[in-house]
Amino acid sequence: PVNQILMDLLSRKILATVNQIIDPKIALEIAEAHGFLAEIKIEGEETEEEEKTLEIAEEEIQEEEENLVERPPIVTVMGHVDHGKTTLLDTIRKTDVASKEHGGITQHIGAYKIKLPNGKEITFLDTPGHEAFTTLRARGSKVADIAILVVAADDGVKPQTIEAINHAKNAKVPIIVAVNKIDKPGADPMRVRQQLTQYGLVPEEWGGDTIFVDISAKTGYNVETLLEMVLLVAEMLELKANPNRLAIGTVIESKLDPKRGAVATVLVQNGTLHIGDYFVAGYTWGKVKAMFNERGERVSKAPPSTPVEVLGFDEIPEAGDKFIAKETEREAKQLAEIRKQRREEELLAKKTRIHLENLSGQKEINLIIKTDVQGSAEALKKSIEDLAEKFPDITINIIHSGVGAITESDVMLAAASNAIIIGFNVRPDTGARKTAEEENVDIKIYNIIYNVIEDLEKALKGLLAPVQ
Ligand code: GDP
Repeated sequence: PVNQILMDLLSRKILATVNQIIDPKIALEIAEAHGFLAEIKIEGEETEEEEKTLEIAEEEIQEEEENLVERPPIVTVMGHVDHGKTTLLDTIRKTDVASKEHGGITQHIGAYKIKLPNGKEITFLDTPGHEAFTTLRARGSKVADIAILVVAADDGVKPQTIEAINHAKNAKVPIIVAVNKIDKPGADPMRVRQQLTQYGLVPEEWGGDTIFVDISAKTGYNVETLLEMVLLVAEMLELKANPNRLAIGTVIESKLDPKRGAVATVLVQNGTLHIGDYFVAGYTWGKVKAMFNERGERVSKAPPSTPVEVLGFDEIPEAGDKFIAKETEREAKQLAEIRKQRREEELLAKKTRIHLENLSGQKEINLIIKTDVQGSAEALKKSIEDLAEKFPDITINIIHSGVGAITESDVMLAAASNAIIIGFNVRPDTGARKTAEEENVDIKIYNIIYNVIEDLEKALKGLLAPVQ
């Protein structure tokens, strides 16, 4: 209840109103006191420019219905190695009506759009496997609308099949199962169906809601049916975009071309990209000098769900970078500059993050304490306070203490507040360990309070030898 929160703040001598922005550390403390620790995530402050970018993302959601038109689905092909992903992507590419009309030679630019005989279009990410998918996802870009899971009928469900399912599920991307190599003598498509029920993929014919299509990527058998199913699912998803706005997309691939300079494939997700548009992508920016489609043909505009090779980047962007067209050069350049500066600051912060071994000379030290039981947290706090009295010119803040394993959110809090984590009879979980390494956050584990205090005291006196 609001009243309770205001009371809690008051007890910390903060007279707050309902709309007031408060210190994240305090929010964390209060949330934790009410058992909401898992919900807390401290983020860096947004600059005005960044906020503008975020606004754009929001605009995307609030787009007026009347401006929206149907857009082609964006599809990723996933599955175990050798189950036929590349073969399927090649076979599908050959069904492209536009290619036949133009006689163009298809080039690999990271994605391609095909036109079916009925005039409908589908865009495929043509880097098979989930590497592309995970890179894009890891950088926060959700690109694919639908995943085709390829499972070889003569081999069945394999480790990467399961990984692919998990990736798609995490991204909330619907899965269509293509049971491949149906032409092979040892093919057992029923076994694949049986195996996949274990992972929540139950065929429609068995009362589930997953579409299964038996195909042969090699002979082309039923590939057309598979594409029809993709369109069916796309229709249910009601994929729409506004072609009459500045483009928003994602960088799919990038390279430095000896002749053309920095080149990147951008998959336009909303709006239309035009020659001459200014844009920002990750830490770089530019002006669209030229665009090429997957047949190497020059194009002057790229509507929603279209992949295009873009020339005109100031520097090479990274796969997964959000690409946002901007009204003016100034805007695009400024945003890239701000991001670059922020990245440098972050790198510096990471490098200079506090460790027990480099404490000496610090005037203020932040600690996070995680213990197995509440009692030891109290005892530890008391001992630290006693120790602090010996060092009157140093302030030791226990910014957070809790019971249980050291989690990723503890590490994020430590990173945000430049704190050291002390675990007493508890360990970091896998996520926490990984993040701590990435963020250069120091985690120290003890099981005797005396040792914590001894180490801290040594550290404060600058006597602790650096460890490798
Ligand atoms: P990826 O690793 O998933 O991309 O698999 P590939 O597309 O490279 O295919 C692996 C092997 O399986 C290749 O030798 C393909 O020719 C073969 N293959 C793929 N699809 C089929 C199919 O439908 N039938 C048969 N018989 N072989 C296939």
